[in-house]
Amino acid sequence: MIPKVIAEARKIVIKVGSNTLAMGDGTMNRAFMAEFAEQCANLVKSGKQVVLVSSGAQVAGVSTLDRWARKKDIHYRQALCAIGQVELMQNWREAFAARDLHIGQLLLTREDFNDDQRTLNMRNTIFTLVDEGVIPIINENDSVSYEEIRIGDNDNLSALTAILWSADLLILFSDIDGVYDKNPKEHADARHIGEVSDLNDLRSGITIGATNSFGTGGIATKLEAAEKVTSYGIPMLLANGSQGRCLEGLANGTNRGTVFLARD
Ligand code: GLU
Repeated sequence: MIPKVIAEARKIVIKVGSNTLAMGDGTMNRAFMAEFAEQCANLVKSGKQVVLVSSGAQVAGVSTLDRWARKKDIHYRQALCAIGQVELMQNWREAFAARDLHIGQLLLTREDFNDDQRTLNMRNTIFTLVDEGVIPIINENDSVSYEEIRIGDNDNLSALTAILWSADLLILFSDIDGVYDKNPKEHADARHIGEVSDLNDLRSGITIGATNSFGTGGIATKLEAAEKVTSYGIPMLLANGSQGRCLEGLANGTNRGTVFLARD
């Protein structure tokens, strides 16, 4: 099913979570970024279009300025994101430049999606970048956002982006290879769910735990993202970004994930 979903999609939004981008010690996984950029370049060569939603500003900030790691104050968090966003994009720029691809950055908040004129401008910018063969890389504008205008997590941001761009597919790369009926890190008998056609059924059959170490999401925000895109007719894949050559592995059926089927 997953190879078919990918083969049929031309416009793909791919979200990479902080846990995938950071190594165990919190530093950026540049080898992953290089390999990922290569796989995106191969998708582009095969005629597909790619928009990336990248987390990791905060974790990149902490790894750059490690003396702020324990500061919980919101101003320090936002300042860390300001520092880390540059670091993050520099790493992405190098990774994509090695594949002869340019990147462009969009930093967005919930308010931008609620405003018609801004939404139109974002849409036009994304379309223009992609038409010109540039890879847009999107993150929340963490250093200007506050509770009322935040999206808060990049799972929902990537779903809004997929809808905005009228994507054919949303892929979320996380540190887990899909949805389980209970947390597989705590229960050895947890059952992997390969395909979801009814989110309400799924919700009633699984235990939804808390968030993971670096990211803000967890399974709850992934289901919110699935709810959003599938109701617009866009399928979603949830897969593990740290499995080697994660995009190709999904496309050729060697890596598993959960596919959320689009609702008609
Ligand atoms: N925007 C946050 C960052 O780049 C990440 C949000 C998320 O992990 O969902 O650090």
